[in-house]
Order: sequence, then structure tokens, then C-alpha cells
Amino acid sequence: MPLHDFLCRGCGHAFEALVMGAEQPVCPQCGGTELTRQMSTFASRTSTKGGSGSSGGSKCSGCAGGSCSTCH
Ligand SMILES: [Zn+2]
Repeated sequence: MPLHDFLCRGCGHAFEALVMGAEQPVCPQCGGTELTRQMSTFASRTSTKGGSGSSGGSKCSGCAGGSCSTCH
């Protein structure tokens, strides 16, 4: 999936955008096109299902984020 992290050079806003081919995303905050593509591990950050270290007890099967009512 062509999903990348971008950092706007105009306002410093960081966001994710789908980039198809040579398409140029724009900053959702200021509309700028001066963007720096981040070579991040963003993909592994959002889909952390059984990743490294499953010893933590903060993971919730309901939301996987630890912020729903069943997490407490
Ligand atoms: Zn911006």
C-alpha cells in the first residue's frame, strides 16, 4: 500500500497520505506542497498485532489502543 508519512516544510505538520505513482500530496493543514517524505516505519506502527513484546498487559482486544471502556 503506497501510504507514506510526510512532513510539511511550510508549517511543520506531519501527516500520512496515499500516494499513487507520481501524485503529489498536499498538506491538509496549510495546503502546501513543499513536503518531505518520511522513510518511517509507519506501516508497522499502525498494525501492531502480535508484534514485538507481547508481555505488556495494556493491549486491549477491543480497540487495540488501550483507550476504550474495556481497557480499564
Ligand atoms: Zn503545512
